[in-house]
Amino acid sequence: MTSDLLARRARLMGPNVPTFYDDPVEIVRGEGVWLWDAEGRRYLDCYNNVAHLGHCHPKVVEAIAAQAATLNTHTRYLHRGILDYIERLTGKFGHDLSQAIMVCTGSEANDVALRMAQAVTGKTGLIATDNTYHGNTTAVAHLSTRRPPIGGYPGHVRRVPAPDSLAPLGGSLAAQAQAFAAGVARAIEELEAAGHGFAGLMLCPIFANEGTPGVGPGFMAPTVEVVRRAGGLILCDEVQPGFGRVGAAWWGHELIGFAPDVVTLGKPMANGHPVGAVVTRPDVMAAFREAFGYFNTFGGNPVSCAAALATLEVIEDEGLVENAREVGAYALEMMRGLHHPLIADTRGFGLFFGIEFAREGAPQSDFCGRVVEAAKARGILLGRVGRAQHILKMRPPMPFSRENAEMLVETLDAILR
Ligand code: PMP
Repeated sequence: MTSDLLARRARLMGPNVPTFYDDPVEIVRGEGVWLWDAEGRRYLDCYNNVAHLGHCHPKVVEAIAAQAATLNTHTRYLHRGILDYIERLTGKFGHDLSQAIMVCTGSEANDVALRMAQAVTGKTGLIATDNTYHGNTTAVAHLSTRRPPIGGYPGHVRRVPAPDSLAPLGGSLAAQAQAFAAGVARAIEELEAAGHGFAGLMLCPIFANEGTPGVGPGFMAPTVEVVRRAGGLILCDEVQPGFGRVGAAWWGHELIGFAPDVVTLGKPMANGHPVGAVVTRPDVMAAFREAFGYFNTFGGNPVSCAAALATLEVIEDEGLVENAREVGAYALEMMRGLHHPLIADTRGFGLFFGIEFAREGAPQSDFCGRVVEAAKARGILLGRVGRAQHILKMRPPMPFSRENAEMLVETLDAILR
């Protein structure tokens, strides 16, 4: 019984780490784009981008099992698996991001990235967007602004408005790009005036947690100029867009067209096995070593590396980036054909989709929640995103097919009718 499990969860775990739904289904098995609950009901999993290749992809299962049966141990033993993986991974970056540190989560990757910016610049000031999520270590939580920390935001942290339909930067894409850059420039001035100096700007290149507002190529150009002039680093959180989900490119920053100093990775990286990475240039690595003497126990353990390598190979072998592009475009076009007076915007990149519900600029969060619940009842798992949780969040596994897309859109159509 779900209610028994929820009560047991509350007793054993307390109120933290809430489940995806208030009234969740008990998931017992996954395969491809599907999840099954304890009663044998099947769900199309469009909620989040962890099972990148589809649930329990046999090549990843095999790689994990074989490596676990051979060797798994501390990252700091000398072994080849971590090198084989980093070589393949850094080969996917078009500029001089040629080195990586393996970690266990996206939060840890971002924590390291922040400290890299501080190590390189010798300054402490950090900037992030005002409605984002970058993770849960103490330092990163200060940039993950869903709830102010006890004692308020520390002085070295500044938050700037991101593109957002509820609090629009205004105007054309070019005007928004200028407005965003002006916000960053103001924050840098404040940090410098307060004596913190400016170390780095952290952002998701497509603002995924803000609901993928329609930023496009060129959006970052004025901001990059501002950051470079001030001597700070650009820390690109690719935990959401990385590994081809945006369809037109492997990385979000490639799609938007800018060159970050540090890229952080997580979620889809090993198809559900907990792995993250920080990818950067040798000069940044050297400064980081000098300042922090960093190491970890589990980050690049042999099993994690085997899982991550198998994931990367399957993305390539199965042409999943191309699939994300083609099926993503097909699905988005169909979604744009959905009609309801509360649909304010429908948007996406590759296999990222968002349908925003608003009436005259007022977010329709409850309505969005009802759509999510109705979809669950009809066998499709969706989420919510955005400042007011009023944007339908759809991030299915990368092998998502045209038939899966049709099922999703037909179900949404039936619900909206
Ligand atoms: N960055 C982004 C953009 C995320 O969405 C998340 C997780 N939702 C994180 C970082 C943190 O990753 P993790 O939960 O693996 O620490």
